[in-house]
Amino acid sequence: MKAVVFEGENRVSIQDKPVPKLDDGEVLIQVDLCGVCASDLAAIRGEVTDYSPPVVLGHEVAGTVSESRHPSVKVGQKVTVNPMITCGECDYCRADLDKYCTQIVGIGHDIDGGYAEYFKFPKHAIETGKLITVSDTVATTDLVFLEPLGCCINAERETIFGQSVAILGAGQIGLMFTQLARKRGLQVIVIEPIPERRQLAEAFGAEAVFDPSAVDQITQLTHGGADTVISATANDQPAIDLAFQLVKRGGCLNFFGLSAHDQYLNLNLEQLHFTGYKIMASWAFSRWSLDQARKMISGEEIQLSPMLSNRFPISESLTAIDHAKNGLGIKTAILGQV
Ligand SMILES: [Zn+2]
Ligand SMILES: [Zn+2]
Repeated sequence: MKAVVFEGENRVSIQDKPVPKLDDGEVLIQVDLCGVCASDLAAIRGEVTDYSPPVVLGHEVAGTVSESRHPSVKVGQKVTVNPMITCGECDYCRADLDKYCTQIVGIGHDIDGGYAEYFKFPKHAIETGKLITVSDTVATTDLVFLEPLGCCINAERETIFGQSVAILGAGQIGLMFTQLARKRGLQVIVIEPIPERRQLAEAFGAEAVFDPSAVDQITQLTHGGADTVISATANDQPAIDLAFQLVKRGGCLNFFGLSAHDQYLNLNLEQLHFTGYKIMASWAFSRWSLDQARKMISGEEIQLSPMLSNRFPISESLTAIDHAKNGLGIKTAILGQV
C-alpha cells in the first residue's frame, strides 16, 4: 500500500509499505478520508516537536473496519479514532484529561496513522475507548471533521464568554467556533484576511466579518472591545497583537491556535493586573468533547462538509500538503486510495 511518511523537518515522502498485519485484539482500518491538520504542517516545517519521525502522518480519519481481531469490533463498521492512546489509569486519564498523560502515544504522531490506504489500531486503544463508531448514514465528509470539532468543543467549554466574541481566522477551526458561538447566542465577529473565508463565516452565522485592519470598527461594534477573543490562527506576533487590541478590559483571550516553539508572549504584569485579562490556551480534546462532536455530527447539527475544499489521492499527497501549506482552500484531505 501507499503511505505518506514524515521523516523529519521538510522531509516527507510517499512510500510503499506492507498492509499492516494484525495481532490478537487489533483492528485494521481502511482509510476513506484523512484530514490534513495544521499540526502536521507545523511538524513538517519543524515548528513543533511532538512528533516521532519516521511515522505515517494522519490523525483526522474517516474509515471503515476492514479486518478485526477484536471481539467487540465488526468488519464494515464506520469509524474514526481518538488519536491519543494513553495509559487509561493515571489521575489525568481518570479525569478525562488524557492529553496530559505521560504515556501518550499519538496516531499519526508516534505510530502510523491515516495518510495511507490502511492503518492498524491497537488492542489497548480499543479497550480504553479510543475507537469511535458511527452509523453508516454519517457522511464521510462530515466524519473527517470529528477530531477538530472535538477540539473546538473542548475549548468552548473552557473559555469564559460574555456577550461578544471575536474569532481570529476563518479556517476550519474559526468556522467551527463561529457556528458553536452562534448556537450559544453570542455576537460573533470574525477577523480574516481572505475574502472567500469571510463569506463562509457570514454564511455560518457571523454577525460581522472584517479584515485584520478593522480594529476601530470592531471596537465600536462591541462597545469598547470583545468580551472574548479566540485566536484560531497561527499565534504569530501580529495575531497576538491583534488579540490584545480587540479584547475589552477584564475579557478572556484564548490562544487556541498552534504556536511555534520559539513564540513567546511578552506581558507586563502590572498591566495584566489592571486590565484583568483572563489569558488561556485550549489544546486538543477530551473523550467527552469527542463524544459531543460525534452526537453533533450524527444529528447534522453543524455544517462541516462545505469546508472540505480539496481532496487528493495518496499519489498526489505531496501536492495536497503544499496546497494546505500555502493556505489555499479551507480544509484539505487525503483520500485513502492511490
Ligand atoms: Zn488535527
Ligand atoms: Zn494516563
